[in-house]
Amino acid sequence: MQRQRSDSAFAAAQRCIPGGVNSPVRAFGGVGGTPVFFASGKGAFLTDLDGNRYLDFVGSWGPLIAGHAPPEVVEAVVAAARRGTTFGAPTEAETELAREIVALVPSVKMVRLVNSGTEATMSAVRLARGITGRSAIIKFAGCYHGHADSFLIAAGSGAATLGAPDSPGVTRGTAADTLVAQYNNIKSVDNLFAERGPSIAAVIVEPVAGNMGVVPPAPGFLPALRDITRKHGSLLIFDEVITGFRLSAGGAQQLYNCTPDITTLGKTIGGGLPVGAYGASQEIMRYVAPAGAVYQAGTLSGNPLAVAAGLATLRIIRRDPGFYERLDRLAARLAAGLEKNCRDTGIKAVVNRVGSMLTLFFSNGSPVFDYNSALACDRQAYARYFHASLDRGIYLAPSQFEALFVSSAHTDEDIDIALAKSKQALGCLS
Ligand SMILES: *Cc1c(COP(=O)(O)O)cnc(C)c1O
Repeated sequence: MQRQRSDSAFAAAQRCIPGGVNSPVRAFGGVGGTPVFFASGKGAFLTDLDGNRYLDFVGSWGPLIAGHAPPEVVEAVVAAARRGTTFGAPTEAETELAREIVALVPSVKMVRLVNSGTEATMSAVRLARGITGRSAIIKFAGCYHGHADSFLIAAGSGAATLGAPDSPGVTRGTAADTLVAQYNNIKSVDNLFAERGPSIAAVIVEPVAGNMGVVPPAPGFLPALRDITRKHGSLLIFDEVITGFRLSAGGAQQLYNCTPDITTLGKTIGGGLPVGAYGASQEIMRYVAPAGAVYQAGTLSGNPLAVAAGLATLRIIRRDPGFYERLDRLAARLAAGLEKNCRDTGIKAVVNRVGSMLTLFFSNGSPVFDYNSALACDRQAYARYFHASLDRGIYLAPSQFEALFVSSAHTDEDIDIALAKSKQALGCLS
């Protein structure tokens, strides 16, 4: 497949943008090669600068649950733009989106709109610290909560309890307030509470991990987090930036029937435009300025175009009562087909799936249940599989540690095509 225009576009970008990209994973560092530059997307398909077409399973890393450029979303955004792109003053549409979120997400009775998932998690942690008067937080190794300083903390070794900064520029003081536990390992959380309980403001977790590849919560893991935070007077934050409106209209908290104190949202609620949100009970959200003293603001927060795209996406979801069942069925077929392809080609791998998010892990057949078991996967095998898929017109995330997303624009026929190509791609590995 020829991608000369992408190659020269990347060369030009590298001269004026660090690494040639505006977000690191886009640079193909995890798989090698040159990133594809896209010209357009429609439904389940992408077209690159050279005119090559790809069946897309990245969906802009999650937001595009209805596929690329659904007419309802495009029309809503264009109509909003004609009325004015931003006023720096409240609009009724913001209340409408807030009301939808409150109606659908079990733990949210009041919500603040921001511009990204990063802003949502950063603000949620500030709120938890403001309410409890405590400074430490617990996060889980391999969970990603955006790029705010407090979250850029590596796991360290399994024995390490205090985080070390994962990036230059994050101070040791900040890192010292971020404690790292192991996903699906409640003992590691117990230990941190035993040591630092009275200083822990919150536990933040992806209720279904999506950023080490898809890792579902083990039975009892989320309820145990609920219990232990309650016992110690800490707040539980579910980072539902991926899972919100993805796994069900009420997110993972509805699917697993376990409600956090604070919920963060992003990706899908923006329908492909920049939106994030954090919400909780009225009692908690009344601490947020100007109702309360915990400051948080944004020039473009609740932007009319972004809110219009979010509302239009929610309308697409709501007009089909079987929306999530259909996504689940397509994703289940894809997962089962990938497993069969692996058996047929003699590749030892496992597929983790929850609803419309899944990951094929080249794990040599071992289960993947936390960050260490994810890190043990064969990244070289994934890189070869990725490129073999790309050359066959299937666009996957350029990293082993990401989710594949099925959208409502995918059809049974698309899944068949993807499975036929994946079998060829896996055949290149054996
Ligand atoms: C993507 C993501 C974020 C960050 O959202 P941005 O909009 O990229 O800032 C936070 N948390 C989770 C779970 C995410 O997947």
